[in-house]
Order: sequence, then structure tokens, then C-alpha cells
Amino acid sequence: MKITDFKITKWEGKAERAIGDANGPYGSDSMSGSLLEIFTDENITGYSLHGGGYVENLFPIIEGQDPRSVLGLWKQMNDYVFKGGNEGERCAGISSIDLALWDLKAKIADQPLWKLLGASTNRVKAYASGIDLNLTDEEIHKFYSRMAGLGIDAGKLKVGLDLDSDEKRLQIVKDALSKVNNRPLLCIDSNEYWSPKQAIRYIRRLEEKFDITWAEEPARRWDYNGLKKVSDNIKAAVATGENINDLAEFMPLIDNGAVDIVEVGMGTTGLTGAMKVANMAFAYELPVAMMNCPGNTMAHLATSLPNHFMMEVVDNGRELFFDTDHNIENGDIVLGDSPGLGITVDFEKLKKLSVETHSVLKDKIIPFPRREGAGLIIKPPEKD
Ligand SMILES: [Mg+2]
Repeated sequence: MKITDFKITKWEGKAERAIGDANGPYGSDSMSGSLLEIFTDENITGYSLHGGGYVENLFPIIEGQDPRSVLGLWKQMNDYVFKGGNEGERCAGISSIDLALWDLKAKIADQPLWKLLGASTNRVKAYASGIDLNLTDEEIHKFYSRMAGLGIDAGKLKVGLDLDSDEKRLQIVKDALSKVNNRPLLCIDSNEYWSPKQAIRYIRRLEEKFDITWAEEPARRWDYNGLKKVSDNIKAAVATGENINDLAEFMPLIDNGAVDIVEVGMGTTGLTGAMKVANMAFAYELPVAMMNCPGNTMAHLATSLPNHFMMEVVDNGRELFFDTDHNIENGDIVLGDSPGLGITVDFEKLKKLSVETHSVLKDKIIPFPRREGAGLIIKPPEKD
């Protein structure tokens, strides 16, 4: 079997609910992305919901090759970007192709990917993540209550700009999830907004009232001294890794004891890269947590990791043009038996959402900028 061609369809749409964090506290419901299809000479197509701009540059490497050689092709793509580094668009391109190849490999084997990866279960513990700094107290209550209704007993709240408000909101999350477990797992995420010292002061105040499971990205992603300082001075685990690309960047964090829970996901150079980082963490007895992704496709990898803790579920109505073969039951993502990633694309819906150029490029919008004052002054959002 050979890889013959590929297609990228850019799309834009609106999620059912806006999301926001410490760097974008007013929130946005704008969604955009690309579907990558990789075609073969036997009419089996692999999908990735993360088509990136660099795919065109990488495609000649995989063209004509057997799509089942996923690990070998991942290495060839990484070697290709060697000099410029596995960063940004290059990393996104490798990630996207890698996931589509895993989808193909499992479809060719006529197995769901979790089974092909050797997992002995199709279940992954889920945690609810509202990405909710923009939500009102009532909306927070509604979201976490709905997730508790699915049996989820863990939640991650966006915090960082207003201690009084965060205390109130964390109590709302705790109350909602307590319907499932009277000691729910409470996590917080400040998206690198604080300096290490700001983080320690803020988190210690929250810890006077709450037992916090992890604090995510409490300082800059690369700052192993700062992250270690935070970890040494709070009770909660420091979780980080969401925004770093590969083994090379995880090594200083792990070597210096700066990360307690290693976060991996599509951004970690695809499924293959995430697998390698998770295996390195396993050697150090560190748990890993899978980041959210459209369609929860990375749950397939999570099922196969012996050190996987729980996976982020956002559930904000962003699955605009595809269906997935999984449910959330008793607090777990339960993957189905359809071959591959279990994604079914509705091409009619996709056509209606498709665009020539993403607005962020056309209108020169910077996606996910860092908020003014970050690391210097904790500035609450202005009230209406
Ligand atoms: Mg995060």
C-alpha cells in the first residue's frame, strides 16, 4: 500500500460556547482549523483534525511510502526539520501527518486505534475543563454540573487574575463535582500568566481553602528554575508541557524536578511524539495527563499509557463537521470499536464552513497573545 496524495480543507465556525483564560479573559467562540486527508492507492483515507500549513513541505517525504511505517516516517519528518528545529508550524505539520498515518494504520488493520496501540482497555479517566475565565458564576455551575452528570469527579478551572473571584469560582466547581465524589479532584490553570513568586503567593492563598490536585503552567513553560521553585513551595503538583514540542524541551524540566505531572498532546509532535515523552516520564515515575483535542482523538494513545492520569475534556460544542465513536460514561471517555480514530466526516457540513484563508492571517490577528502585565502585575478583567 502506498500514500498517493493529500488534501487540506481550511474551515472556520462558531463553537456553541465561548472559552477564555488568563491571557484572554473576555473569551471567544471563534473556531478555525483544517482537516487533513491522506489518500492511498487502496482507497483508504487517513484523517487528522489538525491540518497544518507545513504539511505541503513535508508531504514529499511520505509520498509513495507505506502508510503503516508510522514510526519510521515520523523520524524522517523530524530529521527533515532538523536544522530549523521542531518548532511552530513545522511541529504542527509533523503532528498532523503523524495522526493521519496512525488513523490509516489502524484502518488498514481494521482495528480501533486504541486496540492497535496495544491497550487492554477502551476507557480513559476524564476531567472537565471549562476554559472558563470568561464564564459567569452561573455558567460555571451549569458546565461543571453537566459534567458531573456524566460521572466526572475532576475539574480544571482557569484562574489567575482575581483571587476573590477565583476562590468563589473554585467553590462552585467543588460543589458541582461533589455530587460525584465528596473529595473531587480540583485543578487550576493560569496559562503562564504569573511570575514564580506571584504563583506561590496566589496558589498558597487558594490552598488555605482548597485541596488542589495540580496547578498548570504556573510559570513560563521553559523556566525550570521557576517551576521547581513553585513546586517546592505549594502542596499541589505542577503540571506543564502543554506548550512544548518534544523530548529535548521536557528533559530540563524532568531532570530538574520542575514538573510533577507531564502534559502531552497533539502539540508534542503528534501521537508518536507524545508517546515518546510519556514513556520518558514513565521511567521517572511521573504521571502524564493528555491535553484536550477536537474529537478527543488522543484518548486512543492515553488508553495505552501505563502512567496516564486523566484527560482534559472541554465539551464546548466545537465538533462542527464530524462525528466521533466515543461516549463519556461514569467519568471515563469510552472509545468505540470502529477502525482508526473513529472519526466520520460530514463533508457537506465541512463545505459550508470552508474558507480560502483563515481570518487570523487575512486580518493579521494574533491568536492567543500574552496579556499585558503578565508576570508583572495581576490585573483583573474590567467589569462591564
Ligand atoms: Mg492549559
